[in-house]
Amino acid sequence: MSKKIIAVVGGTGAQGGGIVKELLARGQFSVRVLTRNPNSDKAEALATQGCEIVEGDLNKPETLESAFKDAYGTFLVTNFWDPFTGANEYEQAKAAVKVAKAAGVQHLVWSTLPNSQEISSGKYEVVHFTNKALVDTEVEAADFPYYTFVEAPMYYQNFLTMMAPQPQEDGSKAWTVPMDPSKKCIHNGDISEFGKLVAQVFEQPDKVGKGQHLAMTPGVMSWQEMVDTLNSQGHNIKVNQVPNEVFDSFPFPGAQELREMMNYFEDYTYFGPDADEKIALAKELCPDGFTTFAKWAKENMNP
Ligand code: NAP
Repeated sequence: MSKKIIAVVGGTGAQGGGIVKELLARGQFSVRVLTRNPNSDKAEALATQGCEIVEGDLNKPETLESAFKDAYGTFLVTNFWDPFTGANEYEQAKAAVKVAKAAGVQHLVWSTLPNSQEISSGKYEVVHFTNKALVDTEVEAADFPYYTFVEAPMYYQNFLTMMAPQPQEDGSKAWTVPMDPSKKCIHNGDISEFGKLVAQVFEQPDKVGKGQHLAMTPGVMSWQEMVDTLNSQGHNIKVNQVPNEVFDSFPFPGAQELREMMNYFEDYTYFGPDADEKIALAKELCPDGFTTFAKWAKENMNP
């Protein structure tokens, strides 16, 4: 009998890439990767590893019909940051959920995040959190036989790119944040391990396929703890707190969104008030846990 198919949206990206890798390694399912560009180097590399590559664009729901056809499961993620699609992330996912249901998908796994607006009673609006959380209702209403909500942590990989500590005149490096650096509220993790969790979710629908939320992280840290960890590994890094209005004025796209996000973290933590429950369920599926920041940094961040 042929294997059941998992259709992975974002399979050429950070979240979906780890899922594809893990599904291929475990061998229980066939893997279909959706991409806007089946001829990209990433897509072609995945084809050589045994993935079926199909065209699928969240902005063109009609392309999803054939992409989800005959799939048993779908991993769905939207990309708020590239391009800057915050305004339509909700619409993209809502349409994709509808197409997946019509195509007969049995298990939908949606990569969501906490509803910052609801949690904070309107004090904070982290658009790329809330717009994902709003999709949860659409997923519930679609009434798939199995559906699961998975939450990705703040990627360690951000520290190599958009959140890299910045060189200072004195030769050190620094993070500049609009929040208390000593507040232990950042759930972080190595996003390449997201697949360890999501593969288990697809393999255990009777355990976690009835709308459970699972959050991947080895733990919660403060900026200061991350600085201390790096400095114990030979780095020369510090963290500086600045007022919100100073951070808002920084000339990079999304500065206000990141400021709002960090304000929310400080008050409610990254995964929000039900963090412990969601983390514990993920650890039940992955008892070996996830890589700590200290271990990842030693291997991936050069002093
Ligand atoms: P990524 O590595 O930047 O890659 C983007 C992926 O999205 C690619 O696979 C791309 O596929 C796909 N994609 C983009 N637009 C698409 C469209 N219109 N239709 C179909 N596929 C599309 O992305 P990622 O980091 O895996 O996921 C991004 C999401 O993660 C964001 O929404 C962000 O809010 C969320 N997130 C990030 C963090 C963090 O710390 N950075 C933490 C939690 C959640 P092709 O280019 O091949 O078409």
